[in-house]
Amino acid sequence: MDREHASAAPAADERRRLPRTDVLLADPRLDAAAARLGRRLVKDVVAGVQAQARNGEVPVAEIADRAVAALPATASALRPVINATGVLLHTNLGRAALSEAARDAVLAASGTTDVELDLGTGVRARRGRSALDALLRAVPAAEAAHVVNNGAAALVLAATALARGREIIVSRGEMVEIGDGFRLPDLLVSTGARLREVGTTNRTTPADYAAAVGPDTGCILKVHPSNFRVTGFTREASVAELAQLGVPVVADIGSGLLTPEPALPDEPDATSRLRAGASLVTASGDKLLGGPQCGLLLGNADLVRTLARHPLARALRVDKLTLAALEATVRGPLPPTVSALRADPRALRERAERLAGTLFADGIDCRAVDTEAVVGGGGAPGVTLPSAAVSLPAAYAARLRGTEPAVMARVEDGRCLLDLRAVPEAADAELAEAVRRVAPGTGS
Ligand SMILES: *Cc1c(COP(=O)(O)O)cnc(C)c1O
Repeated sequence: MDREHASAAPAADERRRLPRTDVLLADPRLDAAAARLGRRLVKDVVAGVQAQARNGEVPVAEIADRAVAALPATASALRPVINATGVLLHTNLGRAALSEAARDAVLAASGTTDVELDLGTGVRARRGRSALDALLRAVPAAEAAHVVNNGAAALVLAATALARGREIIVSRGEMVEIGDGFRLPDLLVSTGARLREVGTTNRTTPADYAAAVGPDTGCILKVHPSNFRVTGFTREASVAELAQLGVPVVADIGSGLLTPEPALPDEPDATSRLRAGASLVTASGDKLLGGPQCGLLLGNADLVRTLARHPLARALRVDKLTLAALEATVRGPLPPTVSALRADPRALRERAERLAGTLFADGIDCRAVDTEAVVGGGGAPGVTLPSAAVSLPAAYAARLRGTEPAVMARVEDGRCLLDLRAVPEAADAELAEAVRRVAPGTGS
């Protein structure tokens, strides 16, 4: 045994006194945790601390205490994160945060629930009917609605049911990659539809589409370029122009706005697209709608019925938790995403100054600064939203990721910025507490 090891590791006789796993698990706190989190999970945590004790990193007498401290809050390894990135919809943080109303609805639906049952008659009913009713009430321009797993699934179902073995007419300016290497053209071709590309990257006219319409046309697809912008010498055909061509027009709006959003005047919405003559609108539920991950299909009753009855619909079916969250998002109070989108920059600045003031008083090197936030995650490319942040030394960014809840900041020009645009005001105190906990000289 070398010296270094000898000094770090407990003496051999102390290691022999390492408590046995079953003795540790009998500790009332760990026993209670096993009932709550599962015995296997608690055992894994205990084994980790025992290994640290064996290496001399944890005093033998503290093993039980350390194991209790290391227990996770839930049986899932997913940890809550405060989104201080200034990116409203952060894909890596799970996009939209659900409203309290949606969280309550998810919890209430998480047992057995009447998702597909009429409690009045006791017989089977249309699955998720109350969520669909809520959508139709929010979008009266839609005759019918169907919900699938995500926006991509909505497109796949539409392409399969309307154009498998036939053609989808789409502009070369709308052959987009939606992220992480997923390209819409590949997705569409995987359904067995053929792409009939028209126009050019920057210009596509109604005549380009008209020339391509024929007996093989399944539909025209109009994709909103939700993560880039083409500027300069451009031309695109509107849904209203395409609706004149006598074939179904599917409008993929991406963001999930049901009606125009004053804060984002250039972002398309379902109501306007349907009023302009789209047969079908597809969208995501967890972008600007601010709900759970899901895909919305809104529009013509016959088309929606065809899609909902297609065999593939079963494979893309959403779960009761999603339906509960979607309904509460559509019916309930403004979801956090929309509140963040509409937040008053002066109120954000005041919050930043208040936070920076209390932290500075605690001896922390920080100040309030003006920043620019973005929508991110598939919406409003090129749009910046005036925001405010608490600016800290860059070293805080990594330390804040280790707090509970974790805080995800943005590092810009060598500073760690806690951008408040996507942080609900109710989380300010928690945010300040996290900064205090990782401040130098506080023992962490
Ligand atoms: C985001 C997006 C999609 C994919 O939706 P998911 O919900 O991520 O599957 C498709 N089309 C457009 C235009 C989008 O912005």
